Amino acid sequence: MQYPTHIASGILIDNTARRIHPAWLRMLIVATLCYGAHGVLDGLDISVYDPRDLLLFNDSFWCFFQVVVAITTYWMLVVYWKKHMLAITFSLLPDLDWVMVWFLPKCFHIVIPFWKTPILHGNVMRLARSIPLFNTALEKLPDLRLTREAVLIEIALFILIMWLARKAAKIQVAAGPRSK
Ligand SMILES: [Zn+2]
Repeated sequence: MQYPTHIASGILIDNTARRIHPAWLRMLIVATLCYGAHGVLDGLDISVYDPRDLLLFNDSFWCFFQVVVAITTYWMLVVYWKKHMLAITFSLLPDLDWVMVWFLPKCFHIVIPFWKTPILHGNVMRLARSIPLFNTALEKLPDLRLTREAVLIEIALFILIMWLARKAAKIQVAAGPRSK
């Protein structure tokens, strides 16, 4: 899944966990759930438009999509970073693998000796696939990674998660002051 969808999942989890007390427990739960949610969302991404590491610079749709994702990610970080720093960090953390395994070696010829394979992604995907029935459900999903129309599925999912996040925030506000 793209960064905005992961960020949205972090905001939803953070808003839902707002009243957990004490603060250290809330932070631990939020960090763990956000990290795990990355695996769940990336498991589902076989059914959304996501050509993975294919760099389709001569494909105008792919280029437009990358620009929209970059702008939306930037906008979300500007708007939500201060309030949901921890949740956003852990929602995106597994993708640090791609910086270590792909970006640094390819663009700067820097190879981290102990980080040559996607360690975080490997762990989080194993964790997600250990959820009962989730793995079986994933195998039934159609492979739409190269289908442009499947971008609508991720947009719908993104809108749904953001809508739920707003609902969760409103419920927490209505329930009284948040725990310290
Ligand atoms: Zn990922």
